[in-house]
Amino acid sequence: MQLFDTLRGEKAQLEVPSDRPITLYVCGVTPYDTTHVGHAHTFLIFDLLIRYLNYRGAEVRYCQNVTDVDTPLFERAARDNVPWDELARRETAQFVKDCADLNMIAPTYYPKASEEIPLMLTIVERLIEQGHAYERNGSVYFSIKTDPDYGAMTRLGYADMLAIANERGNDPNDPNKVDPLDFVLWQAAAPGEPTWESPWGPGRPGWHIECTTMSTRYLGEQIDIHGGGRDLIFPHHPSEIAQTEAYSGKKPFVRFWMHGGMAFLGGEKMSKSLGNMVFIREALNEHSADAIRWYLLSFPYRDDFHYERDGVLAAEAQVERMYSALAAVGGGAPASTDGSAEQNAFFAALDDDLHSPAALAQIDTLAQRILGDAAADRDVAAAQNALRTIAQVFGFKEA
Ligand SMILES: [Zn+2]
Repeated sequence: MQLFDTLRGEKAQLEVPSDRPITLYVCGVTPYDTTHVGHAHTFLIFDLLIRYLNYRGAEVRYCQNVTDVDTPLFERAARDNVPWDELARRETAQFVKDCADLNMIAPTYYPKASEEIPLMLTIVERLIEQGHAYERNGSVYFSIKTDPDYGAMTRLGYADMLAIANERGNDPNDPNKVDPLDFVLWQAAAPGEPTWESPWGPGRPGWHIECTTMSTRYLGEQIDIHGGGRDLIFPHHPSEIAQTEAYSGKKPFVRFWMHGGMAFLGGEKMSKSLGNMVFIREALNEHSADAIRWYLLSFPYRDDFHYERDGVLAAEAQVERMYSALAAVGGGAPASTDGSAEQNAFFAALDDDLHSPAALAQIDTLAQRILGDAAADRDVAAAQNALRTIAQVFGFKEA
């Protein structure tokens, strides 16, 4: 199977190991009531990948984290006057239900950042000992100058990286920092925020170190596939690489970096700040899980897409046609297809960097042929078996 790796900037062959599972880490959500269909899109990409690798005989060990130690969660909890951990628990439960309703395979490991603090402290201490990090006034920072490859994934220069980091929460004027682009590993206690004890005083971890810690703990220092939305290409993922490889002694952290496109609504990127979001549960109230899966995977996964209700309705019609084909009753005349050509083309599409639109086109083509054959009293049993197989690999709930 060929997969596009963001770090190399090209497709490469994913070798399936025979002696161990494939390891997959996908950056999870911050649970505070903003998980929209764009998030569903990201996690469906990896659900399809897991299902396909499983079909090919590979076991996948899948870790997805819960970012329940994060500024937006604390801000929302303060605004609504609810305990942050109660808000996180409630929203995590909702997200888990939404994913299950969308027929996503549950992760093998589902750690919460708030329960992984001890190993974060160990890793931060090691980074300080190694000279990759420094402490100032109770906070600890990663020194990006100690990693000449920092941000290589972005193919951007320092000024552009700094501009993006600043848009995404970096404080370039923090007087503790040696370099404005240095990022926080441990943040000294701030008023109104939960804190944990550390060798540098009370505080809480930075976002990037959370993922380094959980991926290392559950999947090891080197993993096969690491994924997330495209907005994690900077600064989150390069910061994870810098910390993890410093900690592990320069072992290459990840073989394939996979990034999904962003969802747009009404011409703007779906976001909390603009309020233009379609929540997963809203979509599920109106459409079937299979129609949402069909629609969200009808775009090449790396592309941005514009969410349109009419598009989901069109997907619903295609899903209905697939169900009709699976239930159709034919006759005894020779069939026009036994489904093997469509099935092979379906797998060839997934082998080509998980090209889901082309795979769906094969499902739809085969469904139409089966319906045509059934109407002409031809034997559709073999083709129906083939259709059921590929529909199940795609993750359709009712197939
Ligand atoms: Zn992450």
